[in-house]
Amino acid sequence: MLFIPRILKDIARIFSANGTPCFLVGGAVRDMLRGEKARDFDLATSAAPEAVTAMFRAEGCTVIPTGVKHGTVTVHYKGTAFEITTFRTESDYRDGRRPEKITYTATIEEDLARRDFTMNAIALELPQGRLVDPFNGRADIRNRIIRCVGNPRERFSEDGLRPLRCVRFAAQFGFSVDGETLAAIPPALPITAKVSAERIRDELDKTIDSVKPSTGLLLMERTGLLTHILPELAVCRGVDQKGYHRFDVLDHSLLACDYAARERYPREVRLAALFHDIGKPAVRAMDASGVWTFYRHEQESAVLARAIMSRLRYPNAVIDTVIHLVAEHMFHYTADWSNAAVRRFIVRVGETHLPNLYKLRRADVCAAAGEQFPPDFLMPLMDRVHAILDEKKALTLKDLAVSGADLIALGIKPGPRLGVILKELLEAVLDDPELNTKQTLLEIAGKMEDR
Ligand code: ATP
Ligand code: MG
Repeated sequence: MLFIPRILKDIARIFSANGTPCFLVGGAVRDMLRGEKARDFDLATSAAPEAVTAMFRAEGCTVIPTGVKHGTVTVHYKGTAFEITTFRTESDYRDGRRPEKITYTATIEEDLARRDFTMNAIALELPQGRLVDPFNGRADIRNRIIRCVGNPRERFSEDGLRPLRCVRFAAQFGFSVDGETLAAIPPALPITAKVSAERIRDELDKTIDSVKPSTGLLLMERTGLLTHILPELAVCRGVDQKGYHRFDVLDHSLLACDYAARERYPREVRLAALFHDIGKPAVRAMDASGVWTFYRHEQESAVLARAIMSRLRYPNAVIDTVIHLVAEHMFHYTADWSNAAVRRFIVRVGETHLPNLYKLRRADVCAAAGEQFPPDFLMPLMDRVHAILDEKKALTLKDLAVSGADLIALGIKPGPRLGVILKELLEAVLDDPELNTKQTLLEIAGKMEDR
């Protein structure tokens, strides 16, 4: 027996008072059966959207016609939003995504039949709590299997998003995919090709945000989805690295991403982990002794990561963060770094990015080593960085003891040259923080002007 939250019982009472059936459907029922907390509540009913709207407005609720074309309204009830959709079937999928036609139907069973996977096609009748499970979704949840409702080939050919949802759910829940369902993905690739970049990105994000992204990404590779969505990553298969690495570039990238997920690092770090070596196939060259080199691969990786993320319409702020981390991931700290070298490292990376860069580096190193976890090898660098940040010495132009105005007062003309002089003064101060006094810097600037 599933526990039915109070708020659902209250909603159900409004339906019953109107003589209308009401079912909890979709992800909420699935997640309750998985023993997880349900997040958003989707309800299904036989009443038409207009009737649902009237019913809840009479109760003083705000009702928003969010998708009336698809039979959906959103009801705000006691601070919670509910999507309420009229039982419907779908037909005539033309663009590989949205059905051209929806038809209201009389029964919950018909409504469940249009849903993608058996685990998502279970309804919970409210308020009694009777489960309606015509496709044995409960058994599939128990056995941790993702299986299409009906014929997988047909279901995937109707809507190219479904294969992506399939592999994403596999990563999120650690479920396996039924053989017939998996085999139906490759023939549906041309349909998936019609799915918008934003939809693909949302599914990729959910895969990356899951406990073990590689589960989804390896299924993508097996089915050909990866070549379609992230061809740059797919070609990393078989690119050996030897030496200090035990894995090819693809497996290494997946391990790094899994490590970041296991440590619950933010999405930007997970994406950077996935893309940090993506430039390696392009720059790989063999040196005179027969060893593969990947000279400046971090630059190439950053270029490719930007292209991928722009294509998938990631927000610019996310793109900028990810590619900055990718471009900076190849630092090699040794104890003989001078304080000036540590200062330059801080300036180059930027103080706000340092924690994420350490995270990326941990993911990278642990993924190269396989499952052995080295002790916190970054500690010595982090300590030096902290010590320097604590000194509060100048690290940026605005920390300098002189400003552009001071230099102009000295007789230097405003213009690009002024900017160059300020940058050189900062370089001097990074080397020797003692120089950061107004008098000394003006003297240096004066000498630079005489040159
Ligand atoms: P999530 O936890 O990501 O929200 P969900 O299963 O609730 O998972 P939603 O996109 O919220 O996914 O959709 C709610 C329900 O609608 C699904 O459980 C499924 O029954 C149905 N559904 C969603 N997308 C599709 C689709 N592309 N094809 C068929 N049915 C779908
Ligand atoms: Mg949902």
